Amino acid sequence: MMRMLLLGGTGDALKIARQLGPAHVYSLAGLGKVPDDLKCAVRVGGFGGGEGLARYLAAERIGVVIDATHPYAAQISANAVAACRVAKVPCWALRRPAWQPQAGDDWRMAGDWNELIAALAPFRRPLFTLGREPLAHLDEIPPHQFWTVRMLDSHPDTARSRVLAARGPFTLDGERALFALQAFDVVVSKNSGGGATEAKLEVARERGLPVIMLRRPVLPGVDREFATVADLLDALPGQAAADPAN
Ligand code: NAP
Repeated sequence: MMRMLLLGGTGDALKIARQLGPAHVYSLAGLGKVPDDLKCAVRVGGFGGGEGLARYLAAERIGVVIDATHPYAAQISANAVAACRVAKVPCWALRRPAWQPQAGDDWRMAGDWNELIAALAPFRRPLFTLGREPLAHLDEIPPHQFWTVRMLDSHPDTARSRVLAARGPFTLDGERALFALQAFDVVVSKNSGGGATEAKLEVARERGLPVIMLRRPVLPGVDREFATVADLLDALPGQAAADPAN
């Protein structure tokens, strides 16, 4: 039986992990919630770079790595490919298709934080939805701006910023109410893809708001790539999924 290492930290990865038996391992960086109701083994924390991961694959006799990390978690994805090459095991990946702009969208692409801040200059009330990075820049908020930062963890308000601690999925009605209440004039986002956090884009379109979109990092090629959880689960060896004996 081929032992699997599933690299997670996303809702999609958790869906896959729920289908794995005890022979397999679900790995988390340790930033978010650690599930305690899975049949598979769960490990938490880094491996020590690509070399550490390669050593882990050999020591644990892993037969395939499944990278289901977030599309912006580029380091672990690169490490996975490098480690699999060293350990001579296949690397599979769940790569969620990026969101595509639709009629009525006004997306402004940014390659990094500096480009993002430059694109933000004309606006007054941005909603940031790209994780904790804005926290490192709260001292740099220009006097004409008030930032709302939505992320997993809470953080004290400042005179010109507020953190909304929240975990997706977010509903269309919920996003409509939030946007109306807070009068955002721009949204700052990663292009995460998937349905869980897409409603903000629909509300931005409805309200005619621009979206400053941080470009996706380029990820290395893998042996097999899947666009959906269902496609990936279909491809798993029969004995991996759902069978409590595995
Ligand atoms: P990253 O920059 O690609 O990885 C940083 C380091 O964290 C890796 O080198 C690795 O440490 C460790 N790591 C990451 N994912 C791991 C996993 N599943 N199991 C064990 N170690 C892991 O990642 P990141 O952007 O900080 O994201 C960290 C985690 O949060 C990922 O699991 C990702 O799926 C999740 N996440 C990220 C985002 C995002 O926007 N970046 C959004 C939602 C969820 P070692 O080098 O020591 O092995």
